[in-house]
Parts: sequence; C-alpha cells; structure tokens
Amino acid sequence: MYPKQFELLIESFRKLSGVGAKTAERYAFEVLNWEDETWKQFVDAIQNTKTKLHQCERCGNISEETLCEICKDNTRDQHVICVVQEVRDIAAIEKINEYQGQYHVLNGVINTSKGILPDDLNIASLVERVKQQEVKEVIIAMNPTIEGETTALYLGKLLSEYPLKVTRLAHGLPIGSHIDYADELTLLKALENRTEL
Ligand SMILES: [Zn+2]
Repeated sequence: MYPKQFELLIESFRKLSGVGAKTAERYAFEVLNWEDETWKQFVDAIQNTKTKLHQCERCGNISEETLCEICKDNTRDQHVICVVQEVRDIAAIEKINEYQGQYHVLNGVINTSKGILPDDLNIASLVERVKQQEVKEVIIAMNPTIEGETTALYLGKLLSEYPLKVTRLAHGLPIGSHIDYADELTLLKALENRTEL
C-alpha cells in the first residue's frame, strides 16, 4: 500500500523489540518528516556505530579503541573483575558509583535449551585474564534467572582451581529480572552484601 522504499523503512523499525506494525508505521512517518539535519545525524549515528565501535580486546565492553575507557583507567583496581552478561550491565553497575574494579562481559549466559554452551561465551578469555593478572576477586553479577544461576555455578566451579575469591551479588534482586532494571539502591545493596560462592 506504500511505496516499496517506505515499506522497507517500516520493516526496519519492526526489527526493534517491542515495536509492532502500527508503531513502526508511525516511526516511519515521523522520520519522513524530519529536517535534513536530524535525518543526517540519525543515519550517521547508525552507520558510525557499526564502523567505529568494537569490542574491547580485554573485557568485551564496547569501545572506539582497542581497550575501553575502563580497562585504560589505571586508577581502577586491577585485582577485581566483575563478570556481567551484557555490555549494558556495566552501565547499570557504574551508575551506582561504588565499584572501582574491572569488568568482563560474557555476551550471554549458558542456555542449553537454546544451544548456548560455555564455549559460545567469552569465558576462555576470562580464564586467561585470571591467569595473567593478579586477580584477587571475581564478582559474578549474573541476572537472577535460571540461566544466570547455571552460569554463575559453572564459573564458580571453573575458577575454584585458582587462588582467588569468587563472589556473587547478594540475593535481593527480583527473580527473573535483569540487573539493568534494578533500582540503584537494590543493586548497591546486592553488591555490598555479595557472598562467597
Ligand atoms: Zn575493556
């Protein structure tokens, strides 16, 4: 019913989670009416995100350079690594202004029903870091889901042969939720009251 090019734009918006046909159509019309400058900024942002952003070589965070801002920051504690599922969890933990160590992004969780096994995650590089850096503590900050739990136990077992403390966030985050959705106080308490695995 619309020209092909416009249908393609609607289809593109539908790829975003939570965006249905009606909303995608509304977005497409909104974009169609943008000033040239807004349009260019939007297109550039998408294009540059793809070309300029990489994964940090050390921790898996997103970065414009080989190492991300956190890994480059020498004032941060090199002896503590907080393991998170996804890049956005770093932002959630940074927001509470309490944690001063390093991060490691797994890029997912073990989920056998979906065929996601430890080898599919950023786990080997974590073990390498533990071996090379003088790591004293690994904090496992998985989301409170069954898969997060499975992954935490797997990592705990894997790291038990190294001379370091493995801790995890305290219970208190709502079951089945995501670290990213937790309010700052809940997350701060979960971090402060972390327990040894
Ligand atoms: Zn990094």
